[in-house]
Amino acid sequence: MADAENLWSTDPASALRAGPELDLATLDRSATPGWEGGKGEARAFMADRGRLLSELQERLFAHGRTGGDRSVLLIVQGLDTAGKGGIVRHVVGMVDPQGVALRAFGVPTAAERRHHYLWRVRRALPRPGLIGVFDRSHYEDVLVTRVHGTLDEDAVPRRFDEINRFERQVAASGTTIVKVALMVSYEEQGLRLMKRLDRPDKHWKYDPGDVDTRQEWDAYQAAYADVLARTSTDVAPWHVVPADRKWYSRLAVTELLTQALVDLDLGWPRPRWRLDAQKRRLAATMSAESLRQAAADAEDELASYRQAEAEFAAVVAEADASPSDGRSDLADGGGPTGTTAAPGERKGGNKASKKPAKSRNDGHKRSTDKAERSTAKTKKSPAKNSQKSGKKDGGRKSGGKKGR
Ligand code: AMP
Ligand code: MG
Repeated sequence: MADAENLWSTDPASALRAGPELDLATLDRSATPGWEGGKGEARAFMADRGRLLSELQERLFAHGRTGGDRSVLLIVQGLDTAGKGGIVRHVVGMVDPQGVALRAFGVPTAAERRHHYLWRVRRALPRPGLIGVFDRSHYEDVLVTRVHGTLDEDAVPRRFDEINRFERQVAASGTTIVKVALMVSYEEQGLRLMKRLDRPDKHWKYDPGDVDTRQEWDAYQAAYADVLARTSTDVAPWHVVPADRKWYSRLAVTELLTQALVDLDLGWPRPRWRLDAQKRRLAATMSAESLRQAAADAEDELASYRQAEAEFAAVVAEADASPSDGRSDLADGGGPTGTTAAPGERKGGNKASKKPAKSRNDGHKRSTDKAERSTAKTKKSPAKNSQKSGKKDGGRKSGGKKGR
């Protein structure tokens, strides 16, 4: 099942995590932190991950159908052209749409404006078993509103606290929150907008307001910096994804989502009925001929199930052992609130499914384990792309708006 090489040398959960030393002004938005390959390898690996993601999502869905309380929420933020739509199409699009709850947040409607800004967000939260996706989110309420001056500066810290509290509640209710901020550079944004103007088939994507927003670039960067500094918590950390190379941002978000699902450690839910009794009941309704046929198929079905399970387990074990850590060569180690799990904490698995916060921590604890386990693996993976560089500094060295 997994044929493509895993060229992550640093787990994006740690390579991209917003930390106290993150500096958006010097973030290299064309870097590919943690990934030691190029576009071709990324495409192959993403296809593998897509299959895994699909299987994980089916398990999550199955749990939701049988009383489980877990869900995942992917929050995608980024300026115009950063690639939010592409994440939805190319990453989320790899799983069964029946298991996805997608919501794009635009300018609040008159009805929405009559409520608290979190009102529409609460209503869009994923039910158990689903992967919720926010294309923009409540963060617009501390970004665009701030830049436009419709939000009083005095109110900003209060909103940050409110958002952190809200996300803590969401996590405590069983939702793993994955937040990604797609960071496109000023030049690349200009090119992408110009392409929309140059191609009649892209005109529909162009909004004259995008240039107004672009003219406020510095204010948006400052507002984003504040959001990343103030709302990256251990239950809901921000991941800052360089977005000038679309293949990289999609690959990175795929990995973040996959790891979030792997961390849920979901097996197939146990039925709440008795297998033998149900078999007898069904058999009583079938012809002798059909029963012979079913009996002949049964062995194959079981063998096919076992093979699928073995392959799945192997791929998950592989994914779980993905390289991690590597924070030492990044400026921004760890989130501002600190995320190291207490020694001895282990992955919760099904039993700990009531404690998503622990699950996150456990994920990080496991990151440490993974780092230890994967030293050999990391060495093995060839630094094919060292010319793509920026690696040693995590690719955060060059400015996002050169030539302005
Ligand atoms: P798009 O993502 O291109 O469809 O654009 C959606 C627009 O809605 C963007 O310009 C956002 O800034 C804007 N928007 C989203 N949420 C809010 C909000 N809470 N307040 C004001 N504008 C918002
Ligand atoms: Mg737009």
